[in-house]
Amino acid sequence: MPTIFSKIIARQAPAEIVYQDEWVTAFKDIHPAAPVHILIVPNKEIPTVNDVTPEDEPMLGRLFTVARKVAEQMGIASSGYRLIVNCNHDGGQEIYHLHMHLLGGRRLGPMLAKRD
Ligand code: AMP
Repeated sequence: MPTIFSKIIARQAPAEIVYQDEWVTAFKDIHPAAPVHILIVPNKEIPTVNDVTPEDEPMLGRLFTVARKVAEQMGIASSGYRLIVNCNHDGGQEIYHLHMHLLGGRRLGPMLAKRD
């Protein structure tokens, strides 16, 4: 079964896509946690960081160059932003298709809650 992100990448499910190339697609998070909340997703369906291989390194690098580009596009490059990749249950991962969150547009506060 393809993930919802694979369907968005294939334009078979709705999303506000802000960037797409042969390796990566970026679109607005449906439940934004900040004024700017973009998901940057490899077009290849890799479930988690635990599944990445050395051959994925160029694509993983692309996640960062696209994060930079989209941050500029969204006007938050100089004010700043946070990039997050969750892995598995304890990391809070909900969608098992590797992705990077790009969050900004306000002061984000401490990186982690002290307790659950
Ligand atoms: P994670 O917890 O790291 O797996 O993050 C998954 C993110 O995907 C959450 O922030 C969700 O709000 C977001 N999300 C889930 N479904 C969609 C969708 N159809 N379009 C856009 N974002 C989504």
